[in-house]
Amino acid sequence: MVKRRELTIFFLLFILGLFLAYTYSDILRAKENIFDRIEKHKIEQISFVLKNLQEDIYKNNQIATKNDLVSFFEEKKNREKYEHILSMMLSSDVKYSYVLYKDDENKFRFLLDASKTDKANFNQKFDIDLKEYNLAYATKEPQTVKQKNVENIYITYIYPIISNGAVIGLFNIDFTTEIKSIILESIKPLEAFFTILTIFIFIFMGITLVQIFHYFITKKKIFTDPLTNTFNRNYLEEIGHVIDLKNYSIAMLDLDKFKVINDTYGHKAGDYVLSHVSTIFKKSIRDSDILIRYGGEEFLLLINNRDSEKLKMTICERIRANVAKENFSYDGDDIKVTLSIGIHKHPSLEKNLQEAIKIADKMLYEAKRSGRNRVVVYDEKLNSHSSSSSSSKYLSFVKEALAEDRVTCHYQPIYSHHTGEIFKYEALVRIISKDGKVIMPMSFMPQIKLTNVHYKLTQRVLSTVFDKFKDNQKLVSININFSDLIHPDIEDSIVKALKSNHNLASRVTFEILESDEIENIELFKQKIHLLHSLKAKVSIDDFGSGYSNFKSVIDIEANFLKIDGSLIKNIDINSKDFKVVKSIVHFAAQSNMQTIAEFVHSKEVYEKLLLLDIDYMQGYYISKPEPHLVLKEELFKTVS
Ligand code: GH3
Ligand code: MG
Ligand code: MG
Repeated sequence: MVKRRELTIFFLLFILGLFLAYTYSDILRAKENIFDRIEKHKIEQISFVLKNLQEDIYKNNQIATKNDLVSFFEEKKNREKYEHILSMMLSSDVKYSYVLYKDDENKFRFLLDASKTDKANFNQKFDIDLKEYNLAYATKEPQTVKQKNVENIYITYIYPIISNGAVIGLFNIDFTTEIKSIILESIKPLEAFFTILTIFIFIFMGITLVQIFHYFITKKKIFTDPLTNTFNRNYLEEIGHVIDLKNYSIAMLDLDKFKVINDTYGHKAGDYVLSHVSTIFKKSIRDSDILIRYGGEEFLLLINNRDSEKLKMTICERIRANVAKENFSYDGDDIKVTLSIGIHKHPSLEKNLQEAIKIADKMLYEAKRSGRNRVVVYDEKLNSHSSSSSSSKYLSFVKEALAEDRVTCHYQPIYSHHTGEIFKYEALVRIISKDGKVIMPMSFMPQIKLTNVHYKLTQRVLSTVFDKFKDNQKLVSININFSDLIHPDIEDSIVKALKSNHNLASRVTFEILESDEIENIELFKQKIHLLHSLKAKVSIDDFGSGYSNFKSVIDIEANFLKIDGSLIKNIDINSKDFKVVKSIVHFAAQSNMQTIAEFVHSKEVYEKLLLLDIDYMQGYYISKPEPHLVLKEELFKTVS
């Protein structure tokens, strides 16, 4: 995907190089071919002339034997005649032309010489040791001898004069083909061009190769974590926008209590464990999976969907088990380490990889919260209480409302009957439907619980409320789930908003559902502590609705205890409820918590509660939740 440009350039250069090499060899072949044809043509011309000449000599002069030939040319006038004819063949190409015979001692001698320079005399000896002369005698066939000097090729053409089936003499023509050098000269620039082009192409190919090579070396460096030899976060950024999330599930892996290993055995031992743990990871995954060291002791695993869902989960479970059973021996110590894993099976349902990672991260938190050394899987489809199709209907309903800014809050006063004043307001989320109806949270909240949309909604409520109350001096309560509170993003936005506005912080109460499964009480206390440190207050919501753990409520050190509506609504007629509420009020007073009664819907209930030492009340009898902040004068108007 990367460096595709260089690879393409290299490939194109390679093709171009091949093409040039082919064309160049083709030109060379064509050149040789042309030269051959030129020579052949020249020889044809010469032999045609010589044949005629030979016939002319026979016809007119009755020559049958070698001796006839010798005596014929002994005569000067004959010699001059034929020398004249032969000399007509001389040109810039044809340098020499003469006639030879072989004497009785098998020596070659001149019969005549038509050459302009170095002219030989009649019967002069011709010293030559080229076998082609004898060959011409023996075979009675013309012979061609090519001799190369510095600049040119000289061709000697030996043409036998045959009479009565025997060779009686030889025509000898020496010629060059000047056209050859002309051609050579004219194609020189072309050849030079090809040579230079080829050199350039090779240089470019070299440079591109070096670049590609360099790229792969640096790529390895840039994208690899040196300690664990896995990909690092740069790689995630590199592939993040091209990866098709439909092909992967994502898993967040984090070593449990790794800090303890560093603290106990030292940082080097920690490094040793990290690198060995990653080896176990690598052995447990397949080539199509991608393992990234995401942070210190946190890894991100992209599990390819190639295999069945079951197998994918098995991979994570196998990794967890393999790490748990391993003894990491370092410096005489046997170190044990476990691993928590959070998985998002369908990351493609999220807006982008980052969002999907956040959810996997949240599952990791869940795994940590519920005791570590475990795998927690998130499945948006399964996380709803209703069927998957209607769940996605609710999800998109809320998503759409968020996108179109139709999420709002209504505020219900919490009344102090002691002072007759509004003590504070409880913010309650509402969605305004497209046709303007106010949709209550119970119609969509349960269906989106534990989904990313739920966190988004909580974020929106927080920012709406913070914004509304940042500058007034009123107090406000916000509902928040424990799972919201431990979500890193939500925690972040709470900390950010409250740290920057201490006045607001001191006026905010977080109402946390007591019925929410709070398995990790330590983590819960830690988060409450964080809220307290920000100067915010904490209220236990719906106390008495489920299994109430009085001890953990004391541990939490909440500021308020909100008594569940189910205990209040019939308190005027149900004496058992009255007794329970009375004991809760007593318990709260002992534990330094103020009490709030909700669901105060009638005069009777209100008056019954006055008999108890309850601090605050809220309910339709006092005031309904309203889009605006209800004033004191508007109280007790809704229900007469
Ligand atoms: P938890 O179970 O909640 O994940 O606890 P934890 O201690 O593993 O988590 P925490 O995030 O508090 O601490 C992680 C520790 O990992 C802190 C850091 O010093 C250590 N760490 C991060 N990177 C490296 C590393 O490259 N080498 C070593 N030796 N330690 C590292
Ligand atoms: Mg960690
Ligand atoms: Mg850890």
